[in-house]
Amino acid sequence: MPTTRYEGVIGLEVHAELETRSKMFCGCAVVDSTTAEPNTVVCPICLGMPGVLPVINRRAVEFAIRVGLALHCEIAPFNRFARKSYFYPDLPKGYQISQYELPIAVNGWLEIDLPDGSTRRVRIRRAHLEEDTGKLTHVGDSSLVDFNRSGVPLLEIVSEPDIRSDVEAEAYARKLRAILQYLGVNSGDMSKGVLRMEPNISVRPVGSVELRTRTEVKNLNSIRSLQRASAHEIERQAKVYEQGGLVDQATLGWDEIRQTTVIQREKESAHDYRYFPEPDLPPLAISQEWIEEIRQHLPELPDAKRDRFIKLGLSRYDASVLVAERAVADYFEAVLSAGADAKKAANWIINELFARMNKAGLDTEAIGSTKVAPAALAGLIKLVDAGAINNSAGKKVLDSLYAEGGDPAEWVAKLGLEQTRDTGAVETVVEAILNANAAEVTRYCAGEEKVLKFLTGQVMREGKGKFPADLVQQVLSSKLAGRCSG
Ligand code: ADP
Ligand code: MG
Ligand code: ZN
Repeated sequence: MPTTRYEGVIGLEVHAELETRSKMFCGCAVVDSTTAEPNTVVCPICLGMPGVLPVINRRAVEFAIRVGLALHCEIAPFNRFARKSYFYPDLPKGYQISQYELPIAVNGWLEIDLPDGSTRRVRIRRAHLEEDTGKLTHVGDSSLVDFNRSGVPLLEIVSEPDIRSDVEAEAYARKLRAILQYLGVNSGDMSKGVLRMEPNISVRPVGSVELRTRTEVKNLNSIRSLQRASAHEIERQAKVYEQGGLVDQATLGWDEIRQTTVIQREKESAHDYRYFPEPDLPPLAISQEWIEEIRQHLPELPDAKRDRFIKLGLSRYDASVLVAERAVADYFEAVLSAGADAKKAANWIINELFARMNKAGLDTEAIGSTKVAPAALAGLIKLVDAGAINNSAGKKVLDSLYAEGGDPAEWVAKLGLEQTRDTGAVETVVEAILNANAAEVTRYCAGEEKVLKFLTGQVMREGKGKFPADLVQQVLSSKLAGRCSG
């Protein structure tokens, strides 16, 4: 019996809070809603009192345009806000001010980097401005509501269903998050809920172009769970079709503990929201001059930075790793400014610093908060470069810097790791090693080249990392030559 192979079809809806100073339609400050005292940053407008009037936050519009331009979108010169009506305890007005038929940005694309080194474009359908809701906390039988988040500017970025797998969904999420961070509009901290991702997922037989019934997974709080939920849902739906069933359109949640999707509610459609133009806000006209001004001030974005790093001699892979998070890219550039060689700096960060952070359970984003200052890492790299210490001593110095911070040269002294160019000392150790390994010496003289590596290792170990490699090599070769001919 022929078995059909299925592929995933995913479109992502991403909600990004715009980290402006004040909220979308009032003067209340935007605060960290995971730490601020609940309901302390509110006013009649963001509490939805009757009779109040919203005012559009210009900075939020500018941030949205920044994102739109970075995603290669067309920016609509004529925008309109709409009321999206629904009832929920975190929405005191009974409607959310959003954009519907006239969003601020449309028809863009984003290039994703896949693990095999290839890239692919995912089209962006639209990005629209709206306001965030309050936040509910469920305690036993009751629910508590915090309106600090109510009215925080929110940009919803919607992709076309161009994503084909959980791996691509992850790549898309990483790239989009990096762009938002580089633009300075969003910290990317998903654990704080400032960035929320909802995949719409369907599957279809490989080779077909139809769009089948989709499900939407809500409340994912990390890129890891986005990837896992997508993989799980693709597999689940494929199984449903394989068994001759049909997938039901539904809104799902992700159960982190059981690693499975769970049904939340049947899907509502647009007409249930009774969208209509927001009567309290004028249409928003955006001039071409303003758009151009914003375009000119866009910072260097991840793809451009990656290409620049490649020109400095990095591999494409290393460059992609370093630009994937703004904090990492900033750190790397600070190490370069402190005078380190680019390729070596990349190696020390990716292979050594990341390994230590990983062991400590730290995310790479936290690179700026480790005790290894960029200038200290640069100093360490220069010490190794200059031959003042060898590579393995360098790793010991990094251990100390990582644990306690401080200056690499001081650690070299404190740990007694300086290399000594003392030919006499090297000769003494070489003689001792050759005497203790007479059989190996005989094999070497008979032409077994690889014995040299073993003997070198013995000498280096005996020298406790203080012998310069070139000196050891030189002394060992001449002593061996003497013994072979003698
Ligand atoms: P809604 O606003 O009702 O959720 P949209 O039409 O705006 O619906 O689409 C939301 C997201 O779902 C988009 O990212 C879109 O690409 C994606 N999408 C639409 N149809 C499918 C499908 N059949 N399979 C996977 N994703 C889909
Ligand atoms: Mg949706
Ligand atoms: Zn307010």
